[in-house]
Amino acid sequence: MGLHAIPTTSAFWDDAPLATDRLIGAEGQGLQIAFSALDSGRLGVAACATGLAQAALDAATAYPHERTTFGRRIIDHQGLGFLLADMAAAVDSARATYVDAARRRDHGRPYTRQASVAKLTATDAAMKVTTDAVQVFGGYGYTRDFPVERYMREAKIMQIFEGTNQIQRLIISRQLAH
Ligand SMILES: Cc1cc2nc3c(=O)[nH]c(=O)nc-3n(C[C@H](O)[C@H](O)[C@H](O)COP(=O)(O)OP(=O)(O)OC[C@H]3O[C@@H](n4cnc5c(N)ncnc54)[C@H](O)[C@@H]3O)c2cc1C
Repeated sequence: MGLHAIPTTSAFWDDAPLATDRLIGAEGQGLQIAFSALDSGRLGVAACATGLAQAALDAATAYPHERTTFGRRIIDHQGLGFLLADMAAAVDSARATYVDAARRRDHGRPYTRQASVAKLTATDAAMKVTTDAVQVFGGYGYTRDFPVERYMREAKIMQIFEGTNQIQRLIISRQLAH
C-alpha cells in the first residue's frame, strides 16, 4: 500500500549461535532491553506521523486558495474552513504529545506512557488529517496528480507498526494501573 522506498520482508534467526561477549546487558534481560528500545522508536514514529500530517495540512491549506466553486474560493466556504481548523488542531496536538515525551526522555525521566500516547495520538491524527486532505482536494485528491493520496497511504502503516494502536492503548492502561 505504501512505504515503497523500503523493502518489507521477514527475518528468522532460528538456533543462531551468539558469543557471550556479544551480549548487550545481562543474560535474560533481552526482552526488557528490546521493549525499552521500542519507547524511543515510538517517539520516532510519532514525529514522522506529525510531519506527514503537517505536509497534508500544508497541501490542503494551499489548494482551497486556488480552487473556486459557486463564485468563491473554497477556503471561504465555512464547511471547508472548519475541516481545515480541525486538521490544524490535530497536527498541533500530535506535535505537543511527542515533544512532551521527548523532553522527558532528554531529562532521563520515565516516558513509556508518554511515548505510547504520542504514537497513538500522532498516528491517528495523521490518518485522519491525510484522509481529510484527500477530501479537501475533492476528485483530484483521489488521483496521483497531487501528493495527498500518497500521504493517506503512508499514514496507515504508522497505526500498525512499532506496536499497533490497540497495543498502545494496552500499554497506556497498564501504566495507569501501576
Ligand atoms: C511495512 C511494514 C514494516 C514493518 N517493519 C517492521 C520492523 O522494522 N520491525 C519489526 O519488528 N516489525 C515490523 N513490522 C511488523 C509490525 O510491527 C507488525 O505487523 C505489527 O506489530 C502488528 O503485528 P501483526 O501484523 O502480527 O498483527 P497481529 O498481532 O496479528 O494483530 C492483528 C490485529 O489484532 C489486534 N490485536 C492483537 N493483539 C491484541 C491485543 N492484545 N489487544 C487488542 N488488539 C490486539 C492488532 O492491534 C491488530 O489490529 C512491519 C510491518 C509492516 C507492514
